[in-house]
Amino acid sequence: MSTHFGGYMGKVLRVDLTTREVRDYPWTDSDRELFLGGKIMAARILSDHIQGPTDPYSEQNLLVFTTGPLTGSGAPSSARWNVSTVSPMTGYIASSNCGGSFGFHLKRAGYDGLVVAGKADQPVWLDITDEKVEFRDAGFLWGKTTSETQELLGKQGGKAVIGPAGENMVRYASIFSQERAAGRGGMGAVMGSKKLKAVGASGKQPIHFADREKNAEANKKWIALLRNHPITGKILPELGTANLLRRMQRHNILATRNFGQGSWSDYDLVSGERMAEYHLIKNTGCLGCPIRCGRVVEVGGKNVKGPELETLGLLGPNLLNNDLNKICEWNYLLDELGMDTMSFGGTLAFAMELQEKGLWNCGLEFGKVDQIPQVIADTACRRGIGALLAEGSKRLAEKFGGHAFAMHVKGLELAAYEPRGAMGQGLGYAVANRGGCHLNSGYMVFMEGLGLAMNGTTRRSKAALAIMMQNLMEGVSAAGTCLFTAYAMIPGFLLDDRKSLLSHSTNVILGLSGPAVQVLNVFQGWMAPFHNPLLPHTRALETLTGMKMSFGRLLSTGERGFNLERLLNIRLGLTGQEDTLPTRLTEECQQPGKEYTRVPIRELKKDFYQKRGWDMNGIPKKRTLKRLSLA
Ligand code: SF4
Repeated sequence: MSTHFGGYMGKVLRVDLTTREVRDYPWTDSDRELFLGGKIMAARILSDHIQGPTDPYSEQNLLVFTTGPLTGSGAPSSARWNVSTVSPMTGYIASSNCGGSFGFHLKRAGYDGLVVAGKADQPVWLDITDEKVEFRDAGFLWGKTTSETQELLGKQGGKAVIGPAGENMVRYASIFSQERAAGRGGMGAVMGSKKLKAVGASGKQPIHFADREKNAEANKKWIALLRNHPITGKILPELGTANLLRRMQRHNILATRNFGQGSWSDYDLVSGERMAEYHLIKNTGCLGCPIRCGRVVEVGGKNVKGPELETLGLLGPNLLNNDLNKICEWNYLLDELGMDTMSFGGTLAFAMELQEKGLWNCGLEFGKVDQIPQVIADTACRRGIGALLAEGSKRLAEKFGGHAFAMHVKGLELAAYEPRGAMGQGLGYAVANRGGCHLNSGYMVFMEGLGLAMNGTTRRSKAALAIMMQNLMEGVSAAGTCLFTAYAMIPGFLLDDRKSLLSHSTNVILGLSGPAVQVLNVFQGWMAPFHNPLLPHTRALETLTGMKMSFGRLLSTGERGFNLERLLNIRLGLTGQEDTLPTRLTEECQQPGKEYTRVPIRELKKDFYQKRGWDMNGIPKKRTLKRLSLA
């Protein structure tokens, strides 16, 4: 083992599918201290290698699988791993944080990460154990669904696999581990382009602890915090992520009819409450997670994974589809074939509007949903209109027009939140490194209606808060735990009674907090050298690794990660002009005549660049990079 830190296995594996060379990737303890793990570690590995615009399907592109120090350590919700690559949707970096058991078993095989280079000429799967690494023929797996592939590979260890959509390089194909997806950005298409059907990992390597006793104590307190918090202890276990749908309706942020409106009369027919009442068999969760936000529902007599909030929104209101049974069925089909439900839903809504406006005669119409299972199968196999749907909204708009209502950023379809009711979320979408993503954007909608209820239709304080949230989420993800654990950072009493004077005052104060938050953003290491009791991640990290860790340090590590991905994107050809939203959201008011119901993206972006320490073109300034040890 080549590390002094606990929590890490001390080795990163590099395999080349072209030459079949297997070797260690150099990764030092100072890299661990600066980049922690997960998506930040992957961004660093990609930026070591990628020197300019890169074809995502070329041999030059890498698929970088990483874990964080907390992965599999006994910390709550820590069966998480990350995969990063140059995305076939955007041409820029994409990262995806996934559950399932692959990350845990990759560490048991003795590795913190796996770098896959080159391309195989025949389908292969990689068999990684703590004794050897083998390239195995995957001919018998080719064409199989994600669950069939995992079954055929046997019960032992963890797997990361693609389905037929990945093999056919559907641009938004995903990678699956158990029923969990590394969903966004087209990771599965890159894996398919490399003819890599699956990676299996298993072994018995132990994880070392800097202080096992203190770490166990920290985890125990952390689990108690999650169990006692109204979101992570009650709402998520009872209703899953779908619990948020009603709140989205209330705040006018439920993407409806291809983001033409922010609410819908039939919303309750596809809500989390409706799913719990009529469809839920039981809840489930990733390995070792006390939250267990996953749903099990019945489709065609089988118990299968239920849809998440984003899927409900984008396959429900956004298509004017009020049939929850159908959403459960499509969700299952999309998972089996290995596609991102969000990009598929967004692309479908765009195609429906193209049809309505007479720009593409594809036969798809809002509210007419009987043919969708066939469309899903055709998309996975790139047949008929499916061959074009497989390209995503950006490329459809290049072919047929309709850019104003092609709801993507940089090529990645937006999540299910209509940002004209949540401007901070709009800003986040526009500047997120992987495109129209709710998580990479900083998930500002959590402050603007879903958790807290600060005013979503003003720009005040939004840039500073978005920066803080982005930095936090980058850090939490890199640590190797689920982003949902960060929900507990809002004190429960503010959520229990959202109408109380205290909750109301908090929302008002948050709206005015921009200048103070910005001071924290710049001097985080200096101002927050402590463990935040609502974010126990840092104490768990410190007692596990032996690394000095604090709330401020986690934030500055996250800031380093966000800037590193930005630098890589600039190297890949990104300009500030692409930090924007479709004009439907910036020039059309959601409520006619009410100017405050559109996203003033130019002003928000200018403020964001300045507060991030970037120049007016969105390029990080030298002094910012120096502060982050990225110079
Ligand atoms: S909260 Fe949900 S997604 Fe996160 S680790 Fe737990 S079960 Fe998995």
